[in-house]
Amino acid sequence: MIADWLARPSMSSDESDPGQGYAGGNMMSGFIFNQGCRMNEAQIHKIVRTLKKAVSQWRAPVVGHYQQSPFKVLISCVLSLRTQDKTTEAASQRLFELADSPERMAKLATAAIEEKIYPVGFYKTKAKNIKKICAILNKEFGGRVPDEIDALLALPGVGRKTANLVVTLGFNKPGICVDTHVHRITNRWGYVKTKTPEKTEQALREKLPRRYWIAINDLLVTFGQNCCKPISPFCSRCPIVAYCERRGVDRSR
Ligand code: SF4
Repeated sequence: MIADWLARPSMSSDESDPGQGYAGGNMMSGFIFNQGCRMNEAQIHKIVRTLKKAVSQWRAPVVGHYQQSPFKVLISCVLSLRTQDKTTEAASQRLFELADSPERMAKLATAAIEEKIYPVGFYKTKAKNIKKICAILNKEFGGRVPDEIDALLALPGVGRKTANLVVTLGFNKPGICVDTHVHRITNRWGYVKTKTPEKTEQALREKLPRRYWIAINDLLVTFGQNCCKPISPFCSRCPIVAYCERRGVDRSR
């Protein structure tokens, strides 16, 4: 799905480029931080455009593979919590081979779901939640996934991140899914200054151009897994180092 997004035309208006010479996605020979620079509104366009190019070399998060299949986005996102992407991907594939709709999934024994999704984190709890989710979808929503955040939040094991991903990726409706990567990275940039993912979501809704709302999660999850890592990010080879305040970064590579 990142590939689809990458295919969209880049915007060119309102861009400034203080990082000319660094922000082209190449390895840097020197290591220059952007100390003191405040990210302005125009720079976000340049950052997104640069990251779009950079992430094309990495694998997109598994949840994004199921774009426009709300049920698969929902279930793979439930599986992905506290689980590595590779494990989630394999578990999702095994499970969807067995059942790819709420109706079929509801007919599976909990033990069968457990067996297919092992070793994702909390697989027993997740198997129970998946059964309950499918029962609710069948009973209350005619076997379909609702496209409203509040209805999704009422499902067992579904939090704000999952609900936003279903609405944005599954239904292509406006929304910003803020997970740990989006929260950490936008704060490191200095683009937002927030303490929690919920506050980050609010801040981004106010300032991030709407055209980036849906794509920002996939983009920053991929970037966060490969470059702007939680501990010791790879600032020395970061394509957007010239725009980043590196807030809270004590150690980097
Ligand atoms: S890798 Fe470093 S320079 Fe790049 S966005 Fe993350 S903190 Fe900023």
